[in-house]
Amino acid sequence: MAEGWTPGSWRTREALQLPRYPDPRELAAVEEELRALPPLVTSWEILALRQRIAEAQEGRCFLLQGGDCAEAFDGCTPEVISNRLKVLLQMSLVLVHGLRKPVVRVGRFAGQYAKPRSADTETIDGVTLPSYRGDMVNAPAFTAAARTPDPRRMIKAHARSAMTMNFVRALIDGGFADLHHPEYWDLAWVGHSPLAAEYRRMVEQVADSVHFMETLSGEAVHNLRRVDFYTSHEALLLPYEEPLTRQVPRHWGWFNLSTHFPWIGMRTAGLDGAHVEYFRGIRNPVAVKVGPSVTPDALLRLVEVLNPGNEPGRLTLVHRMGAGRIGECLPPLLKAVQREGARVLWVCDPMHGNTENTSNGYKTRRFANIASELEQAAEIHAAAGTRLGGVHLELTGEDVTECLGGARELTERDLERAYRSSVDPRLNYEQALELSMRIVRSQGG
Ligand code: PEP
Ligand code: MN
Repeated sequence: MAEGWTPGSWRTREALQLPRYPDPRELAAVEEELRALPPLVTSWEILALRQRIAEAQEGRCFLLQGGDCAEAFDGCTPEVISNRLKVLLQMSLVLVHGLRKPVVRVGRFAGQYAKPRSADTETIDGVTLPSYRGDMVNAPAFTAAARTPDPRRMIKAHARSAMTMNFVRALIDGGFADLHHPEYWDLAWVGHSPLAAEYRRMVEQVADSVHFMETLSGEAVHNLRRVDFYTSHEALLLPYEEPLTRQVPRHWGWFNLSTHFPWIGMRTAGLDGAHVEYFRGIRNPVAVKVGPSVTPDALLRLVEVLNPGNEPGRLTLVHRMGAGRIGECLPPLLKAVQREGARVLWVCDPMHGNTENTSNGYKTRRFANIASELEQAAEIHAAAGTRLGGVHLELTGEDVTECLGGARELTERDLERAYRSSVDPRLNYEQALELSMRIVRSQGG
């Protein structure tokens, strides 16, 4: 077990990005309540995912991680949940088909309710209020009541996460992910998409292969009915994560049972900070976002603290440099990690280094920059002799217009039509599917 670590040892370190709750007693009462509630995932599932990540590190499978920048409480609806699942299943079908290897599917959901912000407060017309930090902390409306952090929201986040999990599990157990029936995942607007023909062709080829295998073996291939689906979120709000950090009867150590695969955001990845302290003691597979300011030495120290035993499957590094900077920032990091022989899974997040503001006041990302960062990542890894083992994306199954470009060539004017994110802009269904086709091409599939 990690030396000197307890689920609460993070409290001795500086904790960035945490809200200031007006009433500490109320916060403590909520923490007690959370400590008694059932977990959202099990240690068995967590260890199974760790094994899959170890396989991805060896190039035997590919990680697809995606979902909203921030889930919203009012996005906990059957449509939003099933549409997001459909997009992820469709993308994974494209990846399985093109890369010819299994895909590990990880949703950014069932807990993605807390956000880091660049400023603690926001000022509009001379009024200053706390920044919106995700539905688990406060509400987006610009009023003092909405913006005051409320610990009871953590209980609601736990419940919404459980509902989301429950619905995803039920859909998958009921055969929703069955490769025999990819039509279950069709979204209403697939038919009108410029990509529809290419996608349909792949679905037919997969159906043919399934049929062929079943004819050869004389029986139905049952494991095509089910897929494993894991959850992840940024474990930012430590007063929520700590009470869900538990010991279990049959496995040693401590598990964060609020999600399978928590990650540390770029803004809270400081070596001496509370988040790294919390993460070093849990047995989950963990990820860290790595931005352009991280030096090779700092990265190696982080790797040492989070995975001192160099265990397979434990550590994923998610680089998010931006299309303009990846060429300069990534190679030295790859070299350093390679030189140390550190076992990591390298994943590219092509979203967070490519955020910009439009002249009409929207926070957006250009599809071309997102695709370019991914393509450069594949090339840089190939040249370095390392492996790009996965992607981390912000996407939705809804027909939104938040990112520019893509097959439908969305323009700044289009953003006005269906911009719904209260935080970062997400790829819509079509853009997500198109990106998965580009990933296949950039990986030589
Ligand atoms: C995010 O994933 O939404 C995020 C804030 O990313 P990063 O920590 O990489 O900026
Ligand atoms: Mn984001």
